[in-house]
Amino acid sequence: MRLILMGPPGSGKGTQAERLVGILGIPHISTGDMFRKAIDEETELGLEAKEYISSGGLVPDEVTIGIVKDRLGESDCNNGFLLDGFPRTAAQAEALDGILEDLRVGLDAVINIQVSEGELLKRLTGRRICRGCGTSYHMVYNPSKQGDRCDKCQGELFQRKDDTEETILSRLDVYNQQTKPLIQYYEKQEIIQHVDGNQGIEEVFSEINWGLGRDQQ
Ligand code: ADP
Ligand code: ADP
Ligand code: ZN
Repeated sequence: MRLILMGPPGSGKGTQAERLVGILGIPHISTGDMFRKAIDEETELGLEAKEYISSGGLVPDEVTIGIVKDRLGESDCNNGFLLDGFPRTAAQAEALDGILEDLRVGLDAVINIQVSEGELLKRLTGRRICRGCGTSYHMVYNPSKQGDRCDKCQGELFQRKDDTEETILSRLDVYNQQTKPLIQYYEKQEIIQHVDGNQGIEEVFSEINWGLGRDQQ
């Protein structure tokens, strides 16, 4: 399956993506994760992306489109993929259509997770990430059993630098101005499915599976 997970920062894209790729057996392609890895490794891409990410802005389209094009060309994407956090601008959505056309494949669905702004703020300020495997936890909604260590890999949990209230507000602005209009873009292609992301993690997962025509389990 070829899927896009869309939604504002904190809507649960990463959380749902991890579960979906587990049952679908396709790679999870998160541009945010790719940028953070590049920043940790201090590569050229990381150095370029760092200032945009820390201010809550978007990394320039040409850079972002380039890394996604390369990634989708890798052989593990032949049987499908799940894009999380891409596309985020009209130029990225149009470029993605071109990349898919060149690969002679099409999208099966765009899943749009909708969450109210008040809830997004609570989710993002309480988010903690594992330094080892990248799993997202939440201090209140989805805590690790061991407090400050990851249940899967014992890695240390940390708070992303861009998960401060000030940066979150800029990221929500950027979402509203540049990414939200893509809902209409995919509505025109008649492949978008809206999911009520204000529910618990399990309920959202069930709704996504239902939308994909999959009986869970
Ligand atoms: P995104 O990738 O869209 O930015 P995440 O998956 O990282 O979002 O989720 C943001 C935060 O909210 C994390 O701390 C995560 O544990 C928590 N979270 C995700 N889905 C839910 C949910 N349905 N209910 C409550 N908290 C959630
Ligand atoms: P979240 O879903 O919580 O907003 P991500 O991990 O998806 O966060 O992205 C973190 C940051 O990485 C974004 O705020 C942005 O600066 C950058 N980024 C991620 N994906 C893209 C993209 N498709 N285009 C431009 N910048 C991106
Ligand atoms: Zn971990």
